[in-house]
Amino acid sequence: MQFRNFKMVGYVVYGRGCFNQLNEILAPHRKNNAPIIFLVDHFFECKPLINKIPLQGNDKIIFANVTYEPKTTQVDSIAEQLKNEFGTVSGIVGIGGGSTMDLAKAVSLMMNNPGSSADYQGWDLVKQAGVYKVGIPTLSGTGAEVSRTTVLTGPARKLGMNSDFTPFDQIILDPELTKNAPGNQRFYTGMDCYIHCIESLEGTFLNEFSKSYGEKALQLCRDIFLGKETWDDECDDKLMMASYAGGMSIAYSQVGVAHAVSYGLSYVLGTKHGIGNCIVMNHLEEYYPQGHKEFKKMVDKGGYEIPNGICSNLTEEQFESMMNVSLSLKPLWENALGKNWEAIMTKQKLRKLYERL
Ligand code: NAD
Ligand code: ZN
Repeated sequence: MQFRNFKMVGYVVYGRGCFNQLNEILAPHRKNNAPIIFLVDHFFECKPLINKIPLQGNDKIIFANVTYEPKTTQVDSIAEQLKNEFGTVSGIVGIGGGSTMDLAKAVSLMMNNPGSSADYQGWDLVKQAGVYKVGIPTLSGTGAEVSRTTVLTGPARKLGMNSDFTPFDQIILDPELTKNAPGNQRFYTGMDCYIHCIESLEGTFLNEFSKSYGEKALQLCRDIFLGKETWDDECDDKLMMASYAGGMSIAYSQVGVAHAVSYGLSYVLGTKHGIGNCIVMNHLEEYYPQGHKEFKKMVDKGGYEIPNGICSNLTEEQFESMMNVSLSLKPLWENALGKNWEAIMTKQKLRKLYERL
């Protein structure tokens, strides 16, 4: 038996207002004239947060366009631009939702690895450490702040650069930064965390390590999405820790059916991760009966909107491509359905599921 020996984030700071320590945290990592690059979610352009970024010397803010989820071409072009302008940089600080955090991780890696980020989509293909990288989430739920992957859409596949070099050197968890996120977006990203918990806890890869984190994250999600009448600061505090713990849970297990199916949606239709998982979870009573029921309760309680009928006008070719993307995610299916998963999740069965979405 080979046990997974996984690399974790180097440093963690948590608390309301801890963003203000950023300058002090970065100081020892500044090298000669090489700047720190702040890769910031475009939502924050012209927002007060920008004035709190501790710019020095030739530091630079780049606004990340996250209208679409990160692409390998986007990563390559930012890394190229930085190499042309500065040669090297002291570090990359990603400030934003899961998309911006993934971009920051990937750009950091591509500052020190040759070729295109598409060459590294897969497991353990990255050979060199990236430049110093810091993750500062402004939405809670994806667990991208703790994971060893950065999910990218490339020319041939949607797959992460999964490696020991991928986790951040430092994360700054300041729940104040998530305060003004729109309710629907906060819910979709929060449900990503809830779904991580269900898929991990109901999966065949479960062990006591992932169970401990998964149960805690699940309890926090229940407190937030079922226990509270209105959203308050405590919800932001709790959801940030739920995201962290949910991410730690899947680090030692795996996600499952909702993610495997939603990756297909995302590849073919560009459906975003959080909402895509919700669209699928809405129809997973057969695989996660309890989780599905509770998910519906959370949706109803908050009056959130989960789209329906998104596959109603697909061509045969699109269905085929969706199913191929989904079925290629073998570890996810094996975690969800066991070693014999191929006999259970036939193409025909998956097609029926897609048709219902
Ligand atoms: P996101 O980063 O795609 O952002 C969604 C929207 O919210 C964007 O329009 C963004 O501008 C906006 N936004 C971000 N912070 C905000 C704030 N505080 N206030 C208002 N608006 C804000 O959303 P997400 O759900 O956090 O991330 C999804 C992405 O994360 C996907 O690309 C997915 O592939 C990735 N992901 C990665 C991992 C991993 O382990 N690396 C895990 C899960 C998901
Ligand atoms: Zn997810």
